[in-house]
Amino acid sequence: MMKLYSTKNKQQEFTLGEAVLKGLPDDNGLFMPAHIPKLPDHFFKKLPEMSFPELSFAVAYALIDGAIPYQELEKIVFESIDFPAPVVRLDEQTRILELFHGPTLAFKDFGARFMARTMSYFNRTEKSELTILVATSGDTGGAVASGFYDIPGINVIILYPKGKVSHLQEQQLTTLGKNITALEVDGTFDDCQALVKKAFLDKDVTQHLRISSANSINIARLIPQSFYYFEAWKQVFQGQPPVFITPSGNFGNITAGLFAQKMGLPVKKFIAANNANNIFYKYLQTGEYHPKPSIQTISNAMDVGAPSNFARIMDLYGSTWNNVKADIDGFTVNDDATLSGINQVFTKYQYIIDPHGAVGYLAFKEYQKKNPDDMGIILETAHPSKFIDVLPEPISKKVIIPERLAVLAEKTKVATPMSIQYKDFKEYLLNR
Ligand SMILES: *Cc1c(COP(=O)(O)O)cnc(C)c1O
Repeated sequence: MMKLYSTKNKQQEFTLGEAVLKGLPDDNGLFMPAHIPKLPDHFFKKLPEMSFPELSFAVAYALIDGAIPYQELEKIVFESIDFPAPVVRLDEQTRILELFHGPTLAFKDFGARFMARTMSYFNRTEKSELTILVATSGDTGGAVASGFYDIPGINVIILYPKGKVSHLQEQQLTTLGKNITALEVDGTFDDCQALVKKAFLDKDVTQHLRISSANSINIARLIPQSFYYFEAWKQVFQGQPPVFITPSGNFGNITAGLFAQKMGLPVKKFIAANNANNIFYKYLQTGEYHPKPSIQTISNAMDVGAPSNFARIMDLYGSTWNNVKADIDGFTVNDDATLSGINQVFTKYQYIIDPHGAVGYLAFKEYQKKNPDDMGIILETAHPSKFIDVLPEPISKKVIIPERLAVLAEKTKVATPMSIQYKDFKEYLLNR
């Protein structure tokens, strides 16, 4: 049965259910699997014939090791992994793993869908409903809202800053209904986050409602992100281990790749592609880790100055810099270069890449200067239509907006106005 420990204390063990429902251990570390199993040879032999949901199930089954029974886990995986992750060939060396075919057009759909169903499973024996509180600056809220939509036993309350998210992002948060409630807070993202944090510490609230978070560091968001590394390898398989290039912010996506490698996936190297928020890149250069306030960029989902999964990477490598460097290379790309990267990819391949993917593409081009023969798989983390405002013309005019995003524009927004006064938010929660 899968057991987990906190990165700050390996002595105490937790079950998967405890880790998923708690999100974070009390000592402020991060939950880590106590054991990451190696998948047997026959798994890799069978892989070419397995569908994406089938191989995902096999990976999950090995890792979770009985913490969720076979049939329940199969249902969770097949419902979560219900859209493809195709690898597109730009040229012989350069491949793109499209992770944006989910409901909100970003790779975060994999994590949100799996986490929602896993939480619902572990909450099944509770008499009362679980209420998830999330503060969002835009994107995460959309994936969480969609992932938890119509999930039994769970309500979601999303707090977003009024007038500070894009129209389509707001529509993603406010048009679902059912178990998803949007609060339009008359303040900033930090105000939203402060309200949520206070509620978690308020006994009146926690005695009245069972609350939890859908934080990105929940282990249930990482597990499904390892599946598509296997899926990509299956599609490009040709004997030589590929390089994976992961555009990184909080480093959850790349950590899931490292899990996949530990499970036996052949990988030549991981490349952590940073924008100007290059704390990890600097760590690779110097061995020193200095978190900083984030800087705003056009690849804004990676604007993170203190990557929370750094602690997990340290845990995997016993905090040994040389071992980290042996597996992970890093590059940093500024906004001007990102824009020229988008243009380059379009001119050379007639492929429209989003700003996050472009950071990955340029990181791979740098890597290729020393390793011209390696094949790289660049993780394309979002559909370009989500970042159409920052794409250079005339490329932005050529983006085809997927139907599921386009239809949102027409839907009716339902949001409850909320002040930034904690007493108002508290009263709202106590009246639920
Ligand atoms: C969240 C996000 C990232 C960064 O992923 P991490 O797991 O935080 O490193 C990259 N690209 C897009 C589009 C994202 O939404």
